[in-house]
Amino acid sequence: MFWIGCHLSAAKGYLAMGKTAKRIGANTFQFFTRNPRGGSVKALDLEDIAAYRAFAKENGFGKILAHAPYTLNACAADARVLAFARQVMQEDLERLAHLPEAMYNFHPGSHVKQGEEIGIVKIADMLNCVLTEEIQTKVLLETMAGKGTEVGRTFEQLAAILARVERKEQMGVCLDTCHVFDGGYDIVSDWEGVLRQFDEIIGLERLCAVHLNDSKNPLGSRKDRHACLGEGTIGHRAIAEVICHPKLRDVPFLLETPNELEGYAREIAWLRTIRKGE
Ligand code: FE
Ligand code: FE
Ligand code: ZN
Repeated sequence: MFWIGCHLSAAKGYLAMGKTAKRIGANTFQFFTRNPRGGSVKALDLEDIAAYRAFAKENGFGKILAHAPYTLNACAADARVLAFARQVMQEDLERLAHLPEAMYNFHPGSHVKQGEEIGIVKIADMLNCVLTEEIQTKVLLETMAGKGTEVGRTFEQLAAILARVERKEQMGVCLDTCHVFDGGYDIVSDWEGVLRQFDEIIGLERLCAVHLNDSKNPLGSRKDRHACLGEGTIGHRAIAEVICHPKLRDVPFLLETPNELEGYAREIAWLRTIRKGE
């Protein structure tokens, strides 16, 4: 099944996102759990959630992706920033208990000046603190471009975090095509080889979602500037190869390209011509 969608504004609630997704040809979507650059959170609207779930079932929607705010840093040096990260994750996961079809994706963090080893330990400690028996939501580490002191640029770093997490069965990875390319993985000339490395180091069974973005910068630039599909350094051919890999048939693909809804609709329509009949 081809699961395709894009990032949507959560301002009008879940049912509104579902209807927008359907209108632009999507059968999944991503949204921020709260203001991506702040932390405030809206009251939970259980009626809206129930209405969305009925709509999603009727329309054959797949798993959706809840994205944590960028301000969350699970390996911060500052104790208050760390406490904020824990509080946001705990609250978000509690809220997502009402939405079993959602997975939770977050940027592992920036180690600031502590070094990646300490960053890795802190991120795993944070996950061990927030993941409990009551939480059923799958939690995904996103692959990062490696700008600044970001942890999670290499598959080895992600594997090292996962190795330290106790509740591994609850963990997965979201591969961002712009981030891995900027991070130095050449998905343009060797997508097969990059996926093989992912499989050897992390395990393909952990790949739960893909962020489908072109990049404004060259391979290994460590920049993280998304481009529309075909307008960047990754290009249409490589994007087509990404979505056609036989081992990724059922993985949801989410666009985070710099688009308005019409642009997303066009990209989704093009992607559907490539995975036609699904
Ligand atoms: Fe992200
Ligand atoms: Fe992303
Ligand atoms: Zn990005």
